[in-house]
Amino acid sequence: MALKTGKEYVQSLREMNPHPTVYLFGEKMENPYDHPMVKPSQNAVALTYDLAHDPLHEDLMTAHSHLTGQKVNRFCHIYQSRDDLVRKVKMFRLLGQMTATCFQRCTTSDGGNIMYLATYEVDQKFGTKYHERFKSFFKRLQENDLIAGIAMTDVKGDRSLKPSEQADPDLYLHVVEEKKDGIVVRGAKAHQTGALNCHYTVVMPTRAMGPEDKDYAVAFSAPMSSPGLIHIYGRQFSDTRKMEGGSVDTGNPLYGMQETLLIFDNVFVPWENVYLYKEHEFAERISGLLGSHHRCSYGGCKTGVSDVLIGAAALLAQYNGVAKAAHVRSKITEMITLAETLYGCGLASAYEGYATPAGNYMNNFLLANVCKLNVARITNQIGQLALDIAGGLVTTLPSEKDFRSPEVGKYLEKYLKGVKDVPTENRIRIFRLIENLMFGGGAGGYVVESIHGAGSPEAQKTMIPRESNLSHKISLAKCIAGIKE
Ligand code: SF4
Ligand code: FE
Repeated sequence: MALKTGKEYVQSLREMNPHPTVYLFGEKMENPYDHPMVKPSQNAVALTYDLAHDPLHEDLMTAHSHLTGQKVNRFCHIYQSRDDLVRKVKMFRLLGQMTATCFQRCTTSDGGNIMYLATYEVDQKFGTKYHERFKSFFKRLQENDLIAGIAMTDVKGDRSLKPSEQADPDLYLHVVEEKKDGIVVRGAKAHQTGALNCHYTVVMPTRAMGPEDKDYAVAFSAPMSSPGLIHIYGRQFSDTRKMEGGSVDTGNPLYGMQETLLIFDNVFVPWENVYLYKEHEFAERISGLLGSHHRCSYGGCKTGVSDVLIGAAALLAQYNGVAKAAHVRSKITEMITLAETLYGCGLASAYEGYATPAGNYMNNFLLANVCKLNVARITNQIGQLALDIAGGLVTTLPSEKDFRSPEVGKYLEKYLKGVKDVPTENRIRIFRLIENLMFGGGAGGYVVESIHGAGSPEAQKTMIPRESNLSHKISLAKCIAGIKE
């Protein structure tokens, strides 16, 4: 079954991992898949499946696999051309527009492609057999249309110390036992986007490592049903509103995102699922590849979410009767300009892609890092403009229950009305949507996720000089100024 529907995807999660260990509010969840705080995140992922069946979008949502020879979901694709990279950015914008949140599936494609390359490089250097292993794992993902979320970010403890120097050795995930048939690992990975919505986790190192850290230099895949995997569900602002019923106060009733802290409590991994073991020389390469590759994607998804925010601000201006005011029009124009700048960076990084020795395509890393740094700076500006246009009711609105109240509902209906022809409820819904995008977990906290997702701004500032060939720029200046040395 190469292309699942959203419904089949949800079914497959339940079949492959019927009893995940998930804790929320200090208790083990009985039925996590149906919990109202979890369901919206699952809906967002399910849309990535359903859209692949939509003739209008199948061009972006599907691709031809060189591994299976079949049509696959683009989230399960090993990029074969620049065009594949460009379509990915466009697909991410589309999904950002349709969900107004993080749709969580992207590390399958981004992580898959960097591991495809990295395992090839490790094999070239050390004569290992990781690439074929990873290829057969990824082929299974394609054949069954499955999700493998990347687990990179360790909890890190004292940031000034290397993995092997930490007071508690488990603060970076590491191998605790080597067996005849595999390895046993322990540690924890933080900010695991959509982890509970994944069929597999793919672990990789998060930073540069020396020989003393070799037990930490490990990459592997594990089914989410593996014994010893524990999710502790992340809280997001206003998340319990999803448990109140109703459809107004969450701002985005259908879709949301999810992060868990994923604990690996002595998880066994058979050798056939191991893709790096003690080759510490490649730890920095792998984390650098993922960061720079994934940063291009933000030019798609965050532009799509920005589109919704811009639309919400413009609509609210209409509802408030100020759409024609010169300052409002100017702010909307500014928001559009900023959003298209992000998209331009993401597309440019994809269009400048190149074929790797492994045969797949990588985007331009300088432009990807500039893209993500701009996302960190610019979404904040877009958000501020949206809040400026919206006004203070974004944070002072009464609840949906008050609107439905037989006693006070009539007052809210009367006093919170904007222009005459627009129902008060529509106006309220847009305030809540803006609140959700700016402060809720619904967009992965649009602003916070834009800062720290795919690596914090300092990570991009480290990569930009490395990728930008400053000495070439200096020689240009010398040449133009007539300096001969
Ligand atoms: Fe995908 Fe964007 Fe979410 Fe990253 S932040 S997983 S690129 S939607
Ligand atoms: Fe992210």
